[in-house]
Amino acid sequence: MHEYALAEAVVRAALRAAETEGLDTVTSVDVRVGELQQIKQDLFAFALDQVRPADEPRLAATRFDVLVEPAELRCRICTHTFSMTEAQGASSADDLEAVHFVPELAHAFFACPGCGSPDFEVSSGRGVTIASIEGEQRVDA
Ligand SMILES: [Zn+2]
Repeated sequence: MHEYALAEAVVRAALRAAETEGLDTVTSVDVRVGELQQIKQDLFAFALDQVRPADEPRLAATRFDVLVEPAELRCRICTHTFSMTEAQGASSADDLEAVHFVPELAHAFFACPGCGSPDFEVSSGRGVTIASIEGEQRVDA
């Protein structure tokens, strides 16, 4: 259920941005969700709609765009970067599924396609970030 907690954090961030930038309407919020973050995208989108305060006019027409950011792995030995599907040993859909749920297992399943080392780090594809918040200011006559 952490989709709701995340949605609340995103809504709070949108409101804070509206405050600091003096926006009267927040038109769109661009959210990036890491491929390895355990987020159900449809539930997250639903949660964003649910937690949006009904009495907050600045968020009444906000469009929340949720984009999945692909995971990127970086070899600690040869510094090669690769995606999960390029990794050596990602043989079956079940393996990929297991790694999506427990990213720490990646080393058990994958190896660097450059040098074959299982010593790599996840350089992107985790966490949730707000890429942009856009809005409009009312122009006072
Ligand atoms: Zn390597």
